[in-house]
Amino acid sequence: MAANSLILLVEDEAAIREMLQFSLERAGFELMVASEVTAAKQSIQKQLPDIILLDWMLPGVSGIDFAKYLRKDENTSQIPIIILTARTEEEDMILGLEAGADDYITKPFSTKELVARIKSVLRRTKPDNSGDSITVHSLVLDPVSQRVTINNESVNRIL
Ligand code: CA
Repeated sequence: MAANSLILLVEDEAAIREMLQFSLERAGFELMVASEVTAAKQSIQKQLPDIILLDWMLPGVSGIDFAKYLRKDENTSQIPIIILTARTEEEDMILGLEAGADDYITKPFSTKELVARIKSVLRRTKPDNSGDSITVHSLVLDPVSQRVTINNESVNRIL
């Protein structure tokens, strides 16, 4: 995982938002916070986050509708989303995943569990930042030099 991944937290309950911001910053993440969707959109325009923690029940536009919106916009379609939900019904979780969320976590949850989920989703969705090259048959991708070689011949800066 890259150091200091930037999280956008969208949560309308101030107590939960502040607790999560405090805990996640302590865990080494950078945070942008928003209490509803309009503010969240403004944050995204300023800087694209690495991951979005999105409360389901928000005033105005719901977290689910916002997730759908983010998936349709080409600037944000690749940003992983974790839905924060108090709902436990299986049907609701399926709705969240169908809306484009990468994972969900049901309140109440421990910070430890949330951090583990965030790291897991970032590992799954982020390009490999370890510096190791990726080899598929004769094709080699080197993330450090941003070079691609095929049969040891360079294909310059495709990435
Ligand atoms: Ca809420």
